Amino acid sequence: MNLPEPSNFIEEIVVKDIKNQKYTKQVHTRFPPEPNGYLHLGHAKSICLNFGLADKYGGITNLRFDDTNPTTEDTEYVNSIMEDVKWLGYEWENLYYASDHFPKLYEYAVILIKKGLAYVDDSTAEQIAEQKGTPTSPGKESPYRNRSVEENLDLFERMKNGEFPEGSKVLRAKIDMASPNMHMRDPLMYRIKFEEHHRTGKQWCIYPMYDFAHGLCDALEGITHSICTLEFEVHRPLYDWFIENTGAFPSQQIEFARLNLSYTVMSKRKLLQLVNEKFVEGWDDPRLPTLSGVRRRGYPAAALRNFAHTIGVAKRDNLIDISLLEHCVREELNKTSNRYMAVFDPIKVTITNYPDNQTENLIVENNPEDPNAGHRQVSFSKNLFIEKEDFMENPPKKYFRLFPGGMVRLKHAYIIQCNQVIKNEKGEVQELLCTYIPESKSGNDTSGLKVKGTLHWVNENDCIPATIHLYDRLFTDPQPDAHDGKDFKEFINPNSLVVLKNVKVEPAVQYLKTLDTFQFLRHGYFCIDKNSSQKNIIINRTVALKDSWSKIQNQEA
Ligand code: ATP
Ligand code: MG
Repeated sequence: MNLPEPSNFIEEIVVKDIKNQKYTKQVHTRFPPEPNGYLHLGHAKSICLNFGLADKYGGITNLRFDDTNPTTEDTEYVNSIMEDVKWLGYEWENLYYASDHFPKLYEYAVILIKKGLAYVDDSTAEQIAEQKGTPTSPGKESPYRNRSVEENLDLFERMKNGEFPEGSKVLRAKIDMASPNMHMRDPLMYRIKFEEHHRTGKQWCIYPMYDFAHGLCDALEGITHSICTLEFEVHRPLYDWFIENTGAFPSQQIEFARLNLSYTVMSKRKLLQLVNEKFVEGWDDPRLPTLSGVRRRGYPAAALRNFAHTIGVAKRDNLIDISLLEHCVREELNKTSNRYMAVFDPIKVTITNYPDNQTENLIVENNPEDPNAGHRQVSFSKNLFIEKEDFMENPPKKYFRLFPGGMVRLKHAYIIQCNQVIKNEKGEVQELLCTYIPESKSGNDTSGLKVKGTLHWVNENDCIPATIHLYDRLFTDPQPDAHDGKDFKEFINPNSLVVLKNVKVEPAVQYLKTLDTFQFLRHGYFCIDKNSSQKNIIINRTVALKDSWSKIQNQEA
């Protein structure tokens, strides 16, 4: 069999397993989110890894909602998670909820009880914690540990039937209270909770614990490679123990380092705080690292897949520079985005030698990077706007933009020269009177003039107003949640959103739809916000043009 070259240690394991015919079935992975929040970029890494692995080695991937805790879960989250996975470009083979497996998990628990490997414990939570011991001293056996199989079967069934109050009993695995691995010291398997579950309602009043449920759900679905983050490495012996002792399908757990990104936080709990305490507008605020947030901001799914691929998988935790992600976003958008012109802070330019009622339609390429992107018309007249910051009355040396007496090229159009500056009574520049060089038209320039600066502009006669949201990093510190004694919210960047209300854009922009992405020349990549309408155009800046990642790379090279 011709297998694709493995490009990381997980793929090496997969290739080895295929070659050794460890499983009689195809590679089967799963993505197992708990529906207690919106997915973030860390989850995107896990999704790309699980689905990517199956795609590469001819396998399949399940989506499984880990809904074993009835308290925190919600259907709103379930729906957003499905939407996010599809948006990333993946299709799951089967959709499961861990709760679909509750009856089978119950049977597995009975198997363990019958083997004398699980018991019902009446100890209180405090007593159980005390019995645990410490990493350096062994634990104590519970006084209920040696109940007979018959008694355990009876009590467990009655737990299920709701005969005992919450907290009065638990089911524990009988392993080893002296194990150096604390997770093996008779871990809990089931607890009593009289709580309504978002799918099973009041059918159950006992709920399985994560370690027991997770591996056995993998086994029930025939998952061959169960990929999870490093903190579960110490749980692996328990994962294996449950599978071995129930005789379930031998799924195997493989751990990789979670994604940590600079200048943001990526735990659902912390993101929930930012949302609930109104530091951001909602789960899809474009400043958040949630998938709904970055989508609204204009990050293409392909850029996230490429990012996940570029960072690869590591066995040790590390911090990824967010500028690498921005670099991937830019690379993708550079290929796919049409270019438009927008003036963020307009100043009026009048071309005094251009005929009064004349309009010229310039034919311009939509995207010089993509010959198939077509052309559009951009109209030129004597009344234009340019960026206020592209003009200086008293410029320093080597200033290539416009100044009195200076010349620049207007993109796609003509070379102009500034002849006169008109000011208001406060002395502020109001208008620039310029002349154009008719022989200097772009594409047909016979003027022989050489100018260094090229400015973007819009035509006053047909440009339209728009609001632009400029986003900066949400935190001022690269690791906001890594400061002892300080709350991560102390590092919120007060200027993470700047709203520009006086922007003029070329008319083609009004026909773009929500999430369409494009470049504004010299300003960066943008997309249409979900709250935008033809009357009130709202545009998000996805990412600026300046690529600090390439700069870092060049310095290192
Ligand atoms: P959070 O801490 O944000 O709540 P979680 O790990 O509890 O995340 P789950 O819904 O349990 O979130 O995770 C679903 C899958 O996504 C798991 O397999 C988990 O390992 C993976 N995952 C979560 N966060 C990251 C991350 N930062 N990097 C890589 N994978 C992650
Ligand atoms: Mg979790």
